[in-house]
Amino acid sequence: MNNTDHAIALLGVTKSYGRTIAVRDLSLEVPRGKLFAFLGPNGAGKTTTIKLIVGLLKPDAGWIHVCGHQVGSNGLAAKAQLAYVPDQPFLYEKLTGREFLHFVAELYGISTRRRDRLLESLIRRLDIDEFLDQLTESYSHGMKQRVVLAAALLHEPAVLVIDEPMVGLDPRAIRVVKNLFVEHTRNGGTVFMSTHTLDIAEAVADQIGIIHRGELIAVGTLDELRAQARRQHSLEEIFLQLTEVGDG
Ligand code: ATP
Repeated sequence: MNNTDHAIALLGVTKSYGRTIAVRDLSLEVPRGKLFAFLGPNGAGKTTTIKLIVGLLKPDAGWIHVCGHQVGSNGLAAKAQLAYVPDQPFLYEKLTGREFLHFVAELYGISTRRRDRLLESLIRRLDIDEFLDQLTESYSHGMKQRVVLAAALLHEPAVLVIDEPMVGLDPRAIRVVKNLFVEHTRNGGTVFMSTHTLDIAEAVADQIGIIHRGELIAVGTLDELRAQARRQHSLEEIFLQLTEVGDG
């Protein structure tokens, strides 16, 4: 396997917290230009896997590559390819959304001209213009989420890793975010998102992985998952069937 072919590659990754094995011998490859939805019941290991991919946690065993760069030993090169949006987005409360985005652009060394060009498009696509000049402390969760997404996409990352992007978003915002993800993959980028929102995963994911009790129990296209969970048609039915195995 050539790891540079994949946006994200994990091989034999294990991570424990004390005696809890959160992720066990996980191997997974996400090709470039794909939208990958990572599903699993509560406590299955999704956030732990995401934190391992973005280098916030160190695996006990195994290795992780992002665009061919090993996370950890070549961590900065891997991080340069990534944008990460956690499930609880962080913003500086005493800045306006626009000031925050300008601050992020400065951190990435983006010129004012390029920043303004990129921001114009992101502001339009994320529909954040109306509140961008208010202090972020006044933002609702969905408003924060959209500004954080704009910040994440500002440096045009090859790989966007995002934990539960749809939680707390209204239907219009969900549509905006969905379209943005699809557009990101059409432009050659990769999206790795964890979600409990199965109908969205069903609608937009090119590939789906299901983790259960720290182990990857299924991975593939929706059709491949259908074949694995015989007779089940919707992703919800497939998910419930596959994650029920061994529960009774
Ligand atoms: P959810 O859908 O509920 O967000 P998840 O799939 O993201 O869950 P994780 O947060 O990765 O699951 O948790 C996996 C396992 O690791 C769970 O058993 C959880 O209790 C445990 N765990 C997670 N973080 C810690 C921590 N900081 N310390 C101890 N145990 C943890």
